[in-house]
This record gives sequence, structure tokens and C-alpha cells, in this order.
Amino acid sequence: MKPLVFAANWKMHLGPPEAREYVTTFLARYRPLRDREVWFFPPAVSLEAVAGGLAAAGRDDLVAGVQDIHWEPRGAFTGAVSAPLASQAGARAALVGHSERRHVFGETDQATGRKVAAALGAALTPVLCVGELLAEREAGQTLAVVTRQLEAALGGERLDHAVLADVVVAYEPVWAIGTGRNATPQDAALVHRHIRSWLVQRGAARTRVLYGGSVSNKNVGGLLAERELDGVLVGGASLDPAGWAELVRTGAA
Ligand code: PEP
Repeated sequence: MKPLVFAANWKMHLGPPEAREYVTTFLARYRPLRDREVWFFPPAVSLEAVAGGLAAAGRDDLVAGVQDIHWEPRGAFTGAVSAPLASQAGARAALVGHSERRHVFGETDQATGRKVAAALGAALTPVLCVGELLAEREAGQTLAVVTRQLEAALGGERLDHAVLADVVVAYEPVWAIGTGRNATPQDAALVHRHIRSWLVQRGAARTRVLYGGSVSNKNVGGLLAERELDGVLVGGASLDPAGWAELVRTGAA
């Protein structure tokens, strides 16, 4: 079995000095556990500080990643960060299609496909986020929306099964992100089974599928007791290094 992934999405929080302090505190509080990895997605300006702090600790279980990438490797794209540039700053992974990118910044399904390809081209592990809006859930469209997002980003002739095995998928229902309202373990498992069967049909049974949406120290145990979940992607509850260390440590007994 691949290790569980506990991924921290800091969103637009923690600049370089704060990030350095965070990493120091986290490292002091968290000793490696063989069955899990901890991935950090700081803002791009703090990526080098985080990656440097993790590298200095010499720990294979800790990974730095970037929250978003442009699909082009370089060029006149003011404000954007490319996969090769993130890699130079120490990233080993990239979030793609986070709901805030899709619904606040208008990222299309087509763009997620190009970003997955760009991440793989720069040897970054893409963490593809998929998930439905509340209205889509209420209209019974959850599985159709998730399928459409998977097809656009990973489907077609785009990726063979060996590559797909190294991608990570995060199911994040949009109505659960930052709202304090998480999916029940059963709700999450149902969608995870659907994602898994989509992956299995393409020969990628071992691709890790995470859950995200208001995960906290209180609910993480119940969620990860559901065997369909290979880890969690966490926003708000990852911002305090001591609390995050505790969440990772106790997340799956
Ligand atoms: C996220 O940012 O991907 C997320 C799930 O946020 P939160 O845990 O705050 O809901």
C-alpha cells in the first residue's frame, strides 16, 4: 500500500518568515510515521522557504508543492508561476483545479488538462481536485460532474496507466470547503468508489484518492476509518503547525 497523504493547503496565508517558523515548529512536533506522508502547499512566495526547511530536515516523508501552475513553461504571463519555476523553488507536487481556482478564478476543465500535462512534464506530481457545487449535488449531478472533470484532466488518450498511477486525485465537494460542513464518511466513500472505478478502468488501481472539505482534528479519524480514502487535503486546519502535527499523527490510527 502507498502511504496515506496528509496535504496542507495554506491558500493565501503565511509569508516566508512565517513559513520558516511554521516548518520549525512542525518538525519539532512531528516524527515520521511509516504509513503516511505530509505534503505542504504554501503560497508561491513561501515555497522556497518551505522546501528548504523540509530538505534541511532530510525527511523523505515530507513534500513541498505549489498551489497552482500555468500550463506554459515560461513567457509573458504576469503573475503566474510555471511548473519548471516551481520545481526550481523546490516543489515536487502541484495542486491542479482546486475549487477556488475553478470557481473564483474561472479555471476551465480544459485548463486543468493542460496543467496536469505541464506538471508531469516538469516531474511534479499533479494533485487533481474535483468536486461538485451544492446546486449540482442537489440536482443529483455529483457523479456526472466528477466524471466530466476526470475525463477533461486525465481522460482520453492523454495519460497511460503508468503515469496515472502517480497522479493523486482529491475529491473536494465545493460546498464543504471552508464552510465547516464536511461530507460524511459514507458520502465521501460513495464518490471515492466512483473515482476509483474510473481509475481502475484505465489500469490505475493504485492511484491515491484524497478527501478534502472542512477536515479537522475532530472528524479526520472518522473519515479515514473509511478505507476508500487514501488521505486528506486540508485548508483551515493546517494553518497552525502544532494542530496540524496533531491531526497528521492521530489521523488514522
Ligand atoms: C482546501 O483548501 O482544499 C480545503 C479543503 O479547505 P478547508 O479544509 O478549509 O475546507
